[in-house]
Amino acid sequence: MSLLPSKVRVVEVGPRDGLQNQSIQVPTATKLAWIGRLARAGLREIEVTSFVRPDRIPQLADAVEVAAALPEIEGTLYSALVPNQRGLKSARSAGIDRIALFTAASETFCQKNINASIAESIERFRVLLHSVPDEKLWVRAYVSTCFGCPYEGVISPDAVVAVCRDLLALGIDELAISDTIGVATPADIDRVLDALSTLPTLDVPKQVALHLHDTRGTALVNVYAALERGISIFDAAAGGLGGCPYAPGASGNLATEDLIYLLDGLGIETGVDLAALTESSLWFERELGTPLPGRVLGAARGS
Ligand code: MG
Repeated sequence: MSLLPSKVRVVEVGPRDGLQNQSIQVPTATKLAWIGRLARAGLREIEVTSFVRPDRIPQLADAVEVAAALPEIEGTLYSALVPNQRGLKSARSAGIDRIALFTAASETFCQKNINASIAESIERFRVLLHSVPDEKLWVRAYVSTCFGCPYEGVISPDAVVAVCRDLLALGIDELAISDTIGVATPADIDRVLDALSTLPTLDVPKQVALHLHDTRGTALVNVYAALERGISIFDAAAGGLGGCPYAPGASGNLATEDLIYLLDGLGIETGVDLAALTESSLWFERELGTPLPGRVLGAARGS
């Protein structure tokens, strides 16, 4: 067995990526209580909302209220997705200093999702980051559809490398390499990581996060394949909440409980208390009034 990382950073994306794909409107107070539970379960990095136009994603229309009332829990880092300058301004005034940007490796997906070509998205980011030159922002960029696109099918690893190279040139701190429609297998993980390893400006183990979806049941085997390659940052959504509104047929994010169960079993440190996290997700699905798809959660519920 190859040497696996001894520690993994888990980025909880449920409150943003998960909720944005739920038709249910969750009250602000419930979101805040959930975020508090996630943080107390040991999740140290939580993406809490997106500062999008409320008419585009009404589920996250309370971004300002959520960001302004985040529970202060020692060591917890909160971030938010920011689509444009107005969003960045709102995020900054609400005290958010870790932001996430969103682009894609597929031209068609990028166009349909953010109404820009990949090159235009990079230019927007350049202008956006230039607007706050003196502030220390931590910036992550989502590169969606790195393994396949609902419109274009297979995506070449070279396309992933090209967009990542441009993002790194902007000084982006972290790349979230995303399997938006959950098509990747370990062979694809290897191919994309091989391609990314050719980028001299990229420190793969420090800067590459994997954002996996379990649409075809391959998320955890892909995590394992990535661990073997030294990847130690993984996104997940509590309970497996989410999907993607712009990617037909894409089901939920990798469930955080499933990820932690695997990592616990491998003896890899995450700081997350699986029992507390599971309890939190059981509480949250009762609040939502609908069961969440995570496997560990299902086992805990008894169904
Ligand atoms: Mg996702």
